[in-house]
This record gives sequence, C-alpha cells and structure tokens, in this order.
Amino acid sequence: MNNINNDNLSQLTETLFKLNNQLDKSIQNKQAIINKIKQKYEPRTEFNRWRNSEEGKLWKEQQYQKQKQCCAICQAKIELKWSHIDHLKPISIYPDLSLDTSNLQIACGSCNTKKNNSEIY
Ligand SMILES: [Zn+2]
Repeated sequence: MNNINNDNLSQLTETLFKLNNQLDKSIQNKQAIINKIKQKYEPRTEFNRWRNSEEGKLWKEQQYQKQKQCCAICQAKIELKWSHIDHLKPISIYPDLSLDTSNLQIACGSCNTKKNNSEIY
C-alpha cells in the first residue's frame, strides 16, 4: 500500500474505466450480432424462407393435390396461387412446429386470415 501514491491510484482508476467502457461496447456489439442471428432463425422467418424454397413450393403443390385442390378448413375449391400454407398449431404458440409438415395444411386466404386474427387473442 505504501508504494501506491495518489497518482498511481487515479491512473489505475482511469484505466479501469476505459477498460470497462471497452467491455460495454464489446458486449453491445455481441448483443447486436446475437439479435441478427436470432432474427434470421426466428420461426416465422425460417418458415417464410422454407415456403419460398424449391422444397417448400414442391411440398405445397403436392399437398394441394392431396387435398384435391380444396381449402382444408372450409373445403372450398381454391387456386394454388391464392392458397396459403396454414399451421394447424400456430407458430406463435408452437414455434418448434413451424417447419413440421405434419403441422401444415393448405387453406384459402380468408380462412387463414380469420385464423391468424383469432390467434392474437
Ligand atoms: Zn377456406
């Protein structure tokens, strides 16, 4: 303790503050990267990516034929290009099932929209 004079102590304090600031900035940068990664793998984003992929498009076409070109909810005949992929168990509650094809069906736009609106509550 005798060797540490006031100058040393204030220098040490200043260094500690600088290091602390650098650490804060580093943590903030890492948090921003984590958020970007999370967003990329957010279930809805992942589902949209799959839906727009060749695999997703092929699945939709095959499922559409399996359902005899009808909406799985109201049974109305629908056109493939206006049809939606509906999650039986909603992504908002079952994010792990967002890409599980056994949880997916083809629905008409109005059925899917009605369902999505009711999930908000
Ligand atoms: Zn329908």
